[in-house]
Amino acid sequence: MADKSKENFEVTFWGTRGTLPVSGAPFARTGGNTNCIEVTCGDHTIIIDAGTGIRELGSKLVSTSPNQKIHLLLTHAHYDHVEGIPFFAPFFIENADVDISCGKLEGAKDTSQLITDLMDRPFFPVGPEVFSANIDYNTLEENCTFNISDAIKITTAPLNHPGGSTGYRIDFANKSFACITDTEHISGQHDENILKLINNIDVFSYDCSLRDEEMCDFRGYGHSTYEEGIRLAKIANAGSLLASHHMPFRNDNDLDKIEKEMKSANPDYAVAREGDCIKLR
Ligand SMILES: [Zn+2]
Ligand SMILES: [Zn+2]
Repeated sequence: MADKSKENFEVTFWGTRGTLPVSGAPFARTGGNTNCIEVTCGDHTIIIDAGTGIRELGSKLVSTSPNQKIHLLLTHAHYDHVEGIPFFAPFFIENADVDISCGKLEGAKDTSQLITDLMDRPFFPVGPEVFSANIDYNTLEENCTFNISDAIKITTAPLNHPGGSTGYRIDFANKSFACITDTEHISGQHDENILKLINNIDVFSYDCSLRDEEMCDFRGYGHSTYEEGIRLAKIANAGSLLASHHMPFRNDNDLDKIEKEMKSANPDYAVAREGDCIKLR
């Protein structure tokens, strides 16, 4: 009989906050950690972004599968997407294998330099020389496609964000997941790069930081709305949309309201909350 676990395709959210972590009762149901998504494809572990959510994920990985190779895909290097890097437990495991990939970003020579700068003084006490894992750094070209194994295909697209950001699509076992964060849409236009990336996708998470009515106050910060997420999902024939990158001023009740509006467009659309696990296969 075929080993079903080899085709296991799961997406788990370890942090769905954007901009800044939050804490306290008003945020308890959504969770307070910033962006981090674990994608399990068979026996491979892919992580998208290293916000504060990656700390707990790292502890889990070290205790459950210490020898597994980890593929970390960074969308970009704004703090809410990388601030968990110095606290990721697998980096401190001798002979652990981790590769870190990121698109080219304004002001950064390459991905290795990015991590060195992140942990440089005066911002951090120690540099990446404290890591004991074997770390490979990859700097990705725009609109590239590469394979993590024979069965796992990654496709990227450039997003509209100050300094740059990369959207990722993962195809595995005839199913697909994409993460689109952070990106700003132009009112009345739909980003062709995103539409191409999420065409016929099963599930995608999208930068739903804002509401359409709030865009005028946040032009230039590089974020989008859940309404634009719905418009893109419909045009691209996406199966499910998950709203992510929640702003610090958005509490659980606010997100319940947004989710209700999303579900009135399609019952398969939802707000992503910390701990959510979506089984694609
Ligand atoms: Zn962000
Ligand atoms: Zn950003």
